[in-house]
Amino acid sequence: MSTEAAEEAPKDAHPDAHDVLNPATGEVVATVPATTPHQVDAAVARATRAQRTWAALAPADRARQLRRFAAVVDDHTEELALLEVKEAGHTLGTARWEAANVRDLLDYAAGGVERLNGRQIPVPGGLDITLLEPLGVVGVIAPWNYPLPIAVWATAPALAAGNAVLLKPAETTPLTALRLAELAREAGLPDGLLQVLPGAGPVTGTALVDHPGVAKIVFTGSTRVGKEIMARCAAQVKRVTLELGGKSPNIVFADSDLEAAAAATPMSFLDNSGQDCCARSRILVQRQVYDRFLELLAPAVESVVVGDPLDEKTHMGPLISRRQLDRVRSLAGPELSGIRGTAPTGPGFWFPPTVLTGLAPDAPAVREEIFGPVAVVLPFEDEDDAVRLANATEYGLSGSLWTRDVGRAIRVSRAVQAGNLSVNSHSSVRYWTPFGGYKQSGLGRELGPDALAAFTETKNVFFSTEA
Ligand code: NAD
Repeated sequence: MSTEAAEEAPKDAHPDAHDVLNPATGEVVATVPATTPHQVDAAVARATRAQRTWAALAPADRARQLRRFAAVVDDHTEELALLEVKEAGHTLGTARWEAANVRDLLDYAAGGVERLNGRQIPVPGGLDITLLEPLGVVGVIAPWNYPLPIAVWATAPALAAGNAVLLKPAETTPLTALRLAELAREAGLPDGLLQVLPGAGPVTGTALVDHPGVAKIVFTGSTRVGKEIMARCAAQVKRVTLELGGKSPNIVFADSDLEAAAAATPMSFLDNSGQDCCARSRILVQRQVYDRFLELLAPAVESVVVGDPLDEKTHMGPLISRRQLDRVRSLAGPELSGIRGTAPTGPGFWFPPTVLTGLAPDAPAVREEIFGPVAVVLPFEDEDDAVRLANATEYGLSGSLWTRDVGRAIRVSRAVQAGNLSVNSHSSVRYWTPFGGYKQSGLGRELGPDALAAFTETKNVFFSTEA
């Protein structure tokens, strides 16, 4: 893969290169050259040319090309999934879902091309029309936790709306994105329409954000970097969508089906080893069932199978890197009490499934996004207390609530400040429903029926009939 990746990177790439490690073994699987700011300039120029041709196509032709791209991805889902396992340490089940999600995102976006219409609003004395125009070149900056699908959440609708895309993957996980660009070419998308620019965030990412030829940035990553990018975009009033961190609550009321809630809880914060922006990492349990819930939860957590991501029986793989492992250890080390599962101890970046108990509401593990296989449990008294605790965070991405009382489900889902809630479920992400954060979890929405419109500029034109 190293040679394929290197071929995909710009030819006179920066001597700085990033080693891509297999998180399950710590071995180097590829070395990928970084893109210099000068090369970002050249990429923007190519993308600008490609975008003009692309936007001029009839909507039906653009849709057909995107469907062909989806079909080529469909032919390569197993290959993409295996590559995702290799560079991100995902379990095979997760990686297969991710590859299929990319295909579905492209298909869904293709379906939107012919429905992206302007409108005509009656205005006396003439004809008034409202146009939806593509933005031009869109920069997509992706994280390492779901490298492929999250990149395509933005890429698919941006292309469908008539834009070109420059995609900067995370330093740790560029391989699937590079392969996706090859598949786009194989599917016949215009040269330069989708380019992948691997490199460091502060160098390649900043060059993309600051480039005046880039009309919009879609950034998914940490809240810290998101704020910096928003400030840089503000200097040019550049359009920006931000998908940032989370510390999502899982609220278990005493009137819920406790067995069902306890059985579903482990994978609500252990999926992808907890490296999931929607991880339900704060479990809030009503006081009168607190002890009973922990009795049910302990065996469910302890039975989670952690190990070789390629083994189909594995539920949870490693963390992405040594750095991430060190961070998780510093926030959830063995000195804190709670429920702990088991994990391999050999090479690779492993941490066991962990539920921390007895922490004060202002403890770092309660407040900070850990981004590892760790949840905290806190008791609450009643509905108001549950809502107060759920909202006691700077984040507002997702959340779950478990109750059999329909009135309570409606009241609490209205009161919790988060973009994506689920009742008696932990499901948050579907390519056909909107997704995004309240408060410091983000700005704007992705996915769903309005995804394409986020990649357009609205123009109103009035034609006078009285001149
Ligand atoms: P990160 O912020 O470190 O990096 C994300 C991307 O930004 C990478 O490609 C990185 O190279 C780039 N980057 C870093 N500094 C930059 C800079 N100064 N200018 C431009 N680009 C820069 O985040 P991460 O560690 O890769 O991802 C984990 C974070 O992402 C978590 O906080 C998680 O909650 C969040 N996340 C959010 C969502 C969502 O949809 N809300 C989804 C997935 C992940």
